[in-house]
Amino acid sequence: MTQQLPDPSGKYGPYGGRYVPETLMPALDDLIEAYEELREDASFRAEFEHLLQTYVGRPTPLTCARRLSEHLGGAQIYLKREDLAHTGAHKINNALGQALLAKRMGKRRVIAETGAGQHGVATATACALLGLQCVVYMGTIDMARQQPNVERMRLLGAEVRGVDSGTKTLKDAVNEAIRDWVTNVHDTYYIIGSALGPHPYPLICREFQSVIGREARAQMLAQAGRLPDEIIACVGGGSNAIGIFYAFLDDPVRLVGVEAGGYGIDTGKHAARLAIDDSRLTIEGAAIDNRQSTIVNARIGVFQGMRTMVLQNEDGQIAETHSVSAGLDYAGVGPEHVYLRDLKRVEYTAATDDAALEAFHTLCRLEGIIPALESSHAIAEAIRRAPALPRDSILLVNLSGRGDKDLNTVMKAGLKVEHGHCS
Ligand SMILES: *Cc1c(COP(=O)(O)O)cnc(C)c1O
Repeated sequence: MTQQLPDPSGKYGPYGGRYVPETLMPALDDLIEAYEELREDASFRAEFEHLLQTYVGRPTPLTCARRLSEHLGGAQIYLKREDLAHTGAHKINNALGQALLAKRMGKRRVIAETGAGQHGVATATACALLGLQCVVYMGTIDMARQQPNVERMRLLGAEVRGVDSGTKTLKDAVNEAIRDWVTNVHDTYYIIGSALGPHPYPLICREFQSVIGREARAQMLAQAGRLPDEIIACVGGGSNAIGIFYAFLDDPVRLVGVEAGGYGIDTGKHAARLAIDDSRLTIEGAAIDNRQSTIVNARIGVFQGMRTMVLQNEDGQIAETHSVSAGLDYAGVGPEHVYLRDLKRVEYTAATDDAALEAFHTLCRLEGIIPALESSHAIAEAIRRAPALPRDSILLVNLSGRGDKDLNTVMKAGLKVEHGHCS
């Protein structure tokens, strides 16, 4: 089953590939060539591994969530603690790997684009460490929403360029980053933050993130004496999920990806691109009553350099997605996930905002861990599934990041709930 590499054109079955302006093809060719050389290069691998250990804080621990498991009364739940990686999430694995690649390719300048700011912070961090110039494009609406991350990037020495065109959010920032790359490709490396974009980016990101699954596999064997029965991870672009799944693709382990169910699939206000046409999907606790239903469909399309599943409205326009967690709020998804779904190797489901918020509070109180809202979607799925599973079964959840960044969102949601009770 293990697919070491996609075919030479970067296809995962019918998905992936390279759909970029002609002017960028040579840059992607250079990147493929450099990457193919460096992935076999012992000194590159040694440098990356050394930084993962001495800077990122790897291996991250595997924690048995005893009180949560007791509380649910079913499967034992283990957490892979990417929240304990430097900068508070798994994103640093990929940002650091690509920054190292940029440096080895002789590029002095790095660009990135960011929505919530998490990938921007990880990239600014890696560039500060390696002495690379860093420019991060960000929609001005996102800059206002994510002010602390803008400050972090600036403290780390990055230049944050506000993007005022279009919807002033992530997809406009992506367009600006591409424009910059076309102009400055001779000395500039573009770091993409998830397992998406044109080939070879999904492959590169997966390989840098697959350290999560390799560690977790060895830790499960050492701590529990066996592999887990199921692994659950949230899916935004898909990097933390493919990162933990990849080492287990050939094992008899059920793999489950959890997308953002937002206000509920029926409302059209969500970011479920893979779970949406799954007839078994039932979203519990969806607040569909007073919000207008919109028809949003996931269709195969070409989006941001790749062929993948994209959320579109009735006119075929890219749909506006919604999630309480910015990191899952994206219309496209990494192409390898669509392929793994078609192969029925990975199942995809969705958790609503409400379910994720509840899971957030549960993990805080029962385990003393404040999870990212993205990761809370994976916890929500574990909470839903664990009670029905035997006590000797094991569920492994990828805790992709910590929730300090989400406190404002959680406080506001909490107030809304209280207000609801009073009126
Ligand atoms: C960005 C982010 C995600 C979503 O991105 P993936 O590429 O799907 O992993 C999930 N969790 C956290 C904590 C994030 O910061």
